[in-house]
This record gives sequence, C-alpha cells and structure tokens, in this order.
Amino acid sequence: MKIFYSCLEDYDMAIDDFILEYETFPLIEKDEKHICDYCKESSAYRLRKMEDVADHSDDMV
Ligand SMILES: [Zn+2]
Repeated sequence: MKIFYSCLEDYDMAIDDFILEYETFPLIEKDEKHICDYCKESSAYRLRKMEDVADHSDDMV
C-alpha cells in the first residue's frame, strides 16, 4: 500500500493520482517529515487509504 506525499503546491495532483490509483478519496494528514512525490521538496501532507486507519478496530471488540 503506497502512501502519497505531497507539498502544498502538488496537493491537487496527489489527490488526482490517488483517486486514479485507488478509486477512493484519500485520508489526508499533515506530514512535514517526508519528501513530495512530485517536486522533491519537503512534504506538507500524506494521503492514504481510509481502511488502513481502521486496521485496529477489531481490537476494540
Ligand atoms: Zn511538490
């Protein structure tokens, strides 16, 4: 499962690419510790699939 990183400027492009790849809207989180996938500047956001966030929901049963 790929996580998309993007800076502020490439944010729209990252969302488009994410939707193309996964056919779902990404969960968007702030992340300034990585590198933008598009311009190699510092990232501002990371985009990932919603389901990955709910991975631990079984533990709560
Ligand atoms: Zn960028």
